[in-house]
Amino acid sequence: MDIIHLLPDSVANQIAAGEVIQRPASCLKELVENSLDAKAKRIQVIVRDAGRTLLQVIDDGIGMSEMDARLAFERHATSKIREAQDLFSLRTMGFRGEALASICAVAQVEMTTRRAEDETGTLIEIQGSEVVRQEVCACPVGTNIKVSNLFFNVPVRRKFLKTDQTELRNLLTEFYHIVLVYPKVSFTFVHNDEILLELPAGTEKQRIEAVFGNPKRNVYTSAFVDVATDTDLVSIHGFVVKPENATRKAEQYFFVNGRYMRHPYFQKAVLTAYSGMLANDYQPSFFLYFTINPEAIDVNIHPTKTEIKFADEQTIFQILMAAVREALGKFTLAPTIDFDTSGQIDIPVLHDQPVVQPQVTVDHSYNPFKKRDTVIYPDRQPAPRHWETLYEGLQKTERLTDRIPAEPEEPLLHAADLESCALWQYGGKYILVPTQQGLVLVNQHRAHVAILHARFIDQIRLTQGAMQQLLFPEVLSLSPEDMVLLEQIADDLRTIGFDIEQLSPDSYSIQGVPAQLINQSPIPILQHILSQVRERGADTPTEWREQIARTMAESAAIPYGKTLTETEMRDMMQRLIALPQYRRTPEGKIILSLLSDDEISKRF
Ligand code: ADP
Ligand code: MG
Repeated sequence: MDIIHLLPDSVANQIAAGEVIQRPASCLKELVENSLDAKAKRIQVIVRDAGRTLLQVIDDGIGMSEMDARLAFERHATSKIREAQDLFSLRTMGFRGEALASICAVAQVEMTTRRAEDETGTLIEIQGSEVVRQEVCACPVGTNIKVSNLFFNVPVRRKFLKTDQTELRNLLTEFYHIVLVYPKVSFTFVHNDEILLELPAGTEKQRIEAVFGNPKRNVYTSAFVDVATDTDLVSIHGFVVKPENATRKAEQYFFVNGRYMRHPYFQKAVLTAYSGMLANDYQPSFFLYFTINPEAIDVNIHPTKTEIKFADEQTIFQILMAAVREALGKFTLAPTIDFDTSGQIDIPVLHDQPVVQPQVTVDHSYNPFKKRDTVIYPDRQPAPRHWETLYEGLQKTERLTDRIPAEPEEPLLHAADLESCALWQYGGKYILVPTQQGLVLVNQHRAHVAILHARFIDQIRLTQGAMQQLLFPEVLSLSPEDMVLLEQIADDLRTIGFDIEQLSPDSYSIQGVPAQLINQSPIPILQHILSQVRERGADTPTEWREQIARTMAESAAIPYGKTLTETEMRDMMQRLIALPQYRRTPEGKIILSLLSDDEISKRF
């Protein structure tokens, strides 16, 4: 008996849909890209329940004929390419003819569409790939497509979706990727009847401002420097911020031929251009648009992937880095950063009660920026021939520092070591502890980070953070997607001691802060927490609490350059060794290092 048979279209489409439509955001992307391909000048996005119940896209594009309206939902039905050769000169966003077929396999779709030359339009309704209604209708020129109850027939997919907050964030992220390359098209984004974004047509800079503008996202278009370069291989234009406008939470975007792309290697090129100009942890925002012959990039990319392969990435790295460096050089020949070396350094609380402020001396010669040579300088070293290997290496080190050693290590410090001996501080940075085995060097900042991290985690768990009222409440303005995020983690922030209340649809007021942070500005800290939660995709309470504790510990820990009294050092060491993991910070950075007796004797 023959056992092979063809799957019915509805089943085949459902399987294939898994590839293209993974979540509401991928559906939105496909619909909006279709509108752009149809030359729409105005696109409205209407969403309900983060796209679970409704995703609607209304455009004023070219519309479809009655026949095309029906064909559009067939797999591999496209008006955009005719033969394989066309793939190499692609100028449209879509070309696979898969999106609509995939969407209608996993949702209920209703579409009305009309071309300018037709008097009447077409209404078509499809459920799970079956056309259930098609009729003539009156409607404006353009296409109005309504996708309801996404994954209504795929319970597994539905379950796989994250919280509404997360899915809405994904929708907005996808939306930004598109609107930033089409500034001449006007867009609106409505969620549950609330207008989240209203973007009039304008220039690229105006669009960036409308999406991320100050004070919502700390991207000041006034701080932009223009980048422009035109070579045979590629032309690049766009904006980067001046080094002093770098932030902890930067917006970094690359686009190629009108498409968003992720490109960690090119990101390194930009960061390299800034080397020596940025403070630790600070990142420049940038928006860089590449135009390149489509033949020089791999177009046959997976529809949901944002990585794009270039033919000659190493050369583009050099071109990009030079262009950014030149742009930065234009506004100042020798970029310098003012950083505050005057006066006292804030003393965070080391003990449970605030300590009496000790006398503090500041080492004016200490300059953290001098020490930054961890970035690769392709112009100082011979350009790496096999950048992939090099880059893999970089990724590996990043991953390694994320790792916390699982097995307990041989203790380097014992309580007894701390009792009798004298402790010394070296370079405003290390605490020196003589022990039986040699001299232990302890990084004071990292030690304090680990101590505070453990304490913050406990405070969230036991809901007992101490709050300190602010004299003057501060206002934190946020983008729609960060509003959603903050709402999600607000209770945990309150537990740890933030007194925050929603003030308006796009801001929170901060009336109190955790006692440990009283000397610091709460806004950058909250922004940093949000960006960490966002970037690390911390979706569960345990994950985002970890990010909150890490960020707060990093902010509240004593800085390098702070002189410590012997009592403070001893106290800190005792707290450190009481931790279950005291050799590395929660980020995996080494806290202490042993200079063994042997090593010391070898020197003499
Ligand atoms: P692709 O975009 O890869 O061609 P889709 O499944 O997304 O495949 O769309 C199929 C076809 O339907 C498109 O090629 C286009 O002709 C037509 N179409 C889809 N959306 C629109 C729209 N908003 N306006 C006009 N035509 C559209
Ligand atoms: Mg398409």
